[in-house]
This record gives sequence, C-alpha cells and structure tokens, in this order.
Amino acid sequence: MKTTEKKGISRKIFLQQFGALGTGLLFSASLAAAEFLSGKTKDPKRIIVIGAGLSGLAAAWNLREAGHEVTLLEARNRPGGRVSTLREPFSEGLYAEEGAAAFSNSYTTALKFIDRYGFEKIPWTLPEKPVTYHLNGKRLDVASGETVEWPYELTAEEKELGPFGLVQKYIIDTLPQEIRQPENWNREPLVQMDHTSLEAYLRAQGASEGAIQLIRNTQWFAAVPGGTSGLSMAISDFGLFMGDAPFILKGGNDLLPREMSKEMNDVIRYETPVRAIEDLGKEVRVTSETGSSFTAEKVIVTLPLKVLQKINFSPALSDPKTTAIEEMRVLDLARVFLELEKPVWRKENLSGLTFTDLPIGQLNAYENMNDVQGPALLESSLAGEAAKNINGKSKEEVEQMFISHIEKIHPGTKEHHTKTIIKNWSTDPYALGGPSWPAPGSVTTHLEHLQSSHGNIHFAGEHTSILRSTMEGALRSGIRAAREIGVS
Ligand SMILES: Cc1cc2nc3c(=O)[nH]c(=O)nc-3n(C[C@H](O)[C@H](O)[C@H](O)COP(=O)(O)OP(=O)(O)OC[C@H]3O[C@@H](n4cnc5c(N)ncnc54)[C@H](O)[C@@H]3O)c2cc1C
Repeated sequence: MKTTEKKGISRKIFLQQFGALGTGLLFSASLAAAEFLSGKTKDPKRIIVIGAGLSGLAAAWNLREAGHEVTLLEARNRPGGRVSTLREPFSEGLYAEEGAAAFSNSYTTALKFIDRYGFEKIPWTLPEKPVTYHLNGKRLDVASGETVEWPYELTAEEKELGPFGLVQKYIIDTLPQEIRQPENWNREPLVQMDHTSLEAYLRAQGASEGAIQLIRNTQWFAAVPGGTSGLSMAISDFGLFMGDAPFILKGGNDLLPREMSKEMNDVIRYETPVRAIEDLGKEVRVTSETGSSFTAEKVIVTLPLKVLQKINFSPALSDPKTTAIEEMRVLDLARVFLELEKPVWRKENLSGLTFTDLPIGQLNAYENMNDVQGPALLESSLAGEAAKNINGKSKEEVEQMFISHIEKIHPGTKEHHTKTIIKNWSTDPYALGGPSWPAPGSVTTHLEHLQSSHGNIHFAGEHTSILRSTMEGALRSGIRAAREIGVS
C-alpha cells in the first residue's frame, strides 16, 4: 500500500510547533509506564470487561496475562472505540483518523504495547509550506518565522508572538513545576488551577482579550476556554503531551487496538451492547440489549461517560458517583473529510493546513506521498460549538456549507471535490460525545468518584484518568482497574 503524507491534525501540529520551539523538554512529565499486574494468580476469577476501547483492552489483556478468565463485551463490530482509522471509502493510499490523532513519546504505557507489536512510528512533522489563517474575515498565508498583522487588538509584544508564542508566554512559561507530577492533582497548587478556567488563567497571566480570542481560534485545546479546567488543560495538553515528540502509527493508529484484540480474539464478543449490570453479591450479572446475559465474579466497566448514564445499575450507584457521571462534561468533537481529485492548495504553494474562526473549524491536509498530484484529503476538526453546529444537519447541508467556505480559501475545492465523510462523535451511539472535558472544579469534585468501585464493579476509561482525553490515560485507567482486582 502507498503511504499517506499527513500534514495537520490540530493536536499534532500544536505539539510539533512547541517541539520546534524547544519547549518540549521544559515540561517533560517523564511519567513511568503504568505498573502492570505481575505474576500469575493462584485464584483465577471470572471477569467481564465491558468495552473494547484502549482502556478495556488494557484491563482485559493484563488480567488474562495474570491468569484470570476474562470475557470482553463490545457493542461495535470492531475494537478500538474512539481510536478509529478510516481507509474506506478513500482512494488507495489515503487514510485518516476519525478519532485519536497522535501519540507522544511520553506515552510510556502506550509505548510498551507499541514496542511489543513492533509498530513503525512516523514522527509528526510541521509543513514547510505556509499555513493559512482565516480569522475575522481576513485571510493570511503565513510562512514559518514571518511576522503577521493578526486581525485582533493585541499589544505590540503579542503581535510579535503570534498564536504559538502567546501560548508559550501565557501558559507554558507560567505553569507550576508541580504539573510534572499529575498524580499530585489533589494537592496545591494544582487544586487551585482546577478551580480556574483556562480563560481566567490566561487573563490572570496578562493576556489581552484579543490574545485570548486568537488562542481560542487557533488552538484546539482552547475551544471552550471558559468551560475548561485549567488543571486538566495543563496536565493533559501540556504536562504529558509536551513531554516529547508526537508521532502516528504507520498504517493507522487503529493498528494498536486491533493487535491487542487479536491476542484476545477468543474472548471478545462483538455486537453485544450492554444495558444492565446487577451485582448479586456472589456474582455480577451483565445483560445486553439483545437479552443475552453473562455472569462473573468481577466486572470492569469502561463505557464513555454519556453511555454510562444510560446503564441500569443494581444496586444503584452512590449519589456522588451518579452526580460525577452526570456532571463531568464531554467535549463535542466531529470531523469532516473532503476527498479532492488533487491537492488544490498546491497551486498557491500552500501546505493546506488552515486555521479558521468559520464554522468549518481547522483544516488539515493529507497528501499521498507516492502520488503528490493525485487524490488528497482535507480534514476538518470541529470542537465545542462548531461541532454542535452540525448536529441535526443532513450530509448534503454540511457538505454544501463546507465547500462554500473552503472554496473561498482554497479555490478549486468545489470543482475537484469527489467524496464527503462526516464523523460526529456526539451522535455515535457508543460514544455520545468526544472525550471527557472537566469544567473548572470538576477534577477535584468528581475524579475520585469516577474512579471508585461499586461492590464488585470497577470502572476505567479515559474519563477516570487525570490524563483525560488521551490514549495514554485510557490505557493507564485499564491497568489501574486490573490492579484493583489484583492477583491474590
Ligand atoms: C476526535 C478525537 C480526537 C482525539 N485525539 C486524540 C489524540 O490526538 N491523542 C490522544 O491521545 N487521544 C485523543 N483522543 C482521545 C482518545 O481517543 C480517548 O481518550 C481514548 O481512545 C478513550 O479510550 P476508552 O477506552 O476510554 O474509551 P473508548 O475508546 O470510547 O472505548 C469504550 C468502548 O465501549 C464500547 N461501548 C460503548 N457502549 C457500549 C455498550 N453499551 N456495551 C458494550 N460496549 C460499549 C465502545 O464501542 C468502545 O469500544 C481523541 C478522541 C477523539 C474523539
């Protein structure tokens, strides 16, 4: 198969920018990999793990290694959950991630699995050609190092800094050293940061209103600045992510969950959506939508927050746990992919990477390295309100809206457009949203309750990790839940 050159994906570009600025080492979190269960149990237990995303796969894999008898129940017909690579229906040589986009070399637990399977890592590289901005009605093509008249009211220094320099000045340079130890999230000064929104944090560091707007419209993590816990932003988006260079897996990120699941093919039951979990004391009964039921001594539930809200638990979950599940927010995320007969941005010698404050969000360009004139992809990442905006719209409406906006930025899009694919995580019945996104105060109020077990029922998933909205956080949460069951 031909390889795809990937230029973009907002989180990766963000990481690479800071790698290029040399800030990576500054906030290297250097977390040791999650501590796996070791040794074989002398008392094998029957355990059901619900959900074959990275957290469920990690839990099931580790418990099996330890000698337990595991059954993995998954609603979809594939493993991976929110790690999902799209190959069909794109032209040969093109693929894209509809979910998790980039790993980081500081994902120490993920790296253990990646090394185990011998996957090839492709370092993320910044486009050499200019990046396009469309902000406040103004289009700017910006080459690396170029000074730009940003269309916001900025101080003289902020004008010089540009979007990434602003993040450096107002976030990276100001974070307390304690951010390097995410496990200390419930101690000061991190607790105080949790109660501070990203927006308030920026303001407290002296950012002008124009600078906050510029950050909001160009940085994926700032989609809801007033509704984002400063602590969760600092730990998940800076502490861990900034630790090292970003990379993707050659052939697609879903290779990781697929390879993990192959080791457990005999115990995974696909197309088994769970609806009820009853702890009967000596055993736990799990019932699916289709009426089939399974029993085990222990259960690990890894369902995304909004799905979890729909599960019937008996006995009922404690009040603080129910409140935590209901109140912890998730970030709306969607992706829209347009396949074009050719990379139209090349005509103007641009990279295709485009940041906008339009309803089309940020655009990333995918080109086929072996056929640079051939089919190419434009991928839009929508977060927060921009993602919500496509809810309830037909595919044709979304496609038309995208093409009309993009045509003005990259002429030729309309003429050369061949396919549209929309992935809206909020309407995916087995996700019902993007990753968890703690509002100010939510980490300290809810995280422990999200993690806590309920009789013989244990909980994992990215939302139970301080490293929220990351693959590393999901894997670690699965290992943590496996350790709660243990080998004794
Ligand atoms: C658009 C997007 C971009 C992202 N970008 C990045 C990134 O660049 N880097 C990064 O590290 N992370 C990223 N993430 C976050 C990352 O994908 C998640 O943190 C991680 O994959 C979550 O794993 P999980 O096991 O907790 O949940 P999931 O992957 O959601 O797994 C839960 C599983 O439960 C299954 N399930 C749901 N309902 C039922 C039911 N009723 N019965 C049985 N099974 C059920 C689901 O099908 C799924 O397989 C991104 C996420 C999204 C959506």
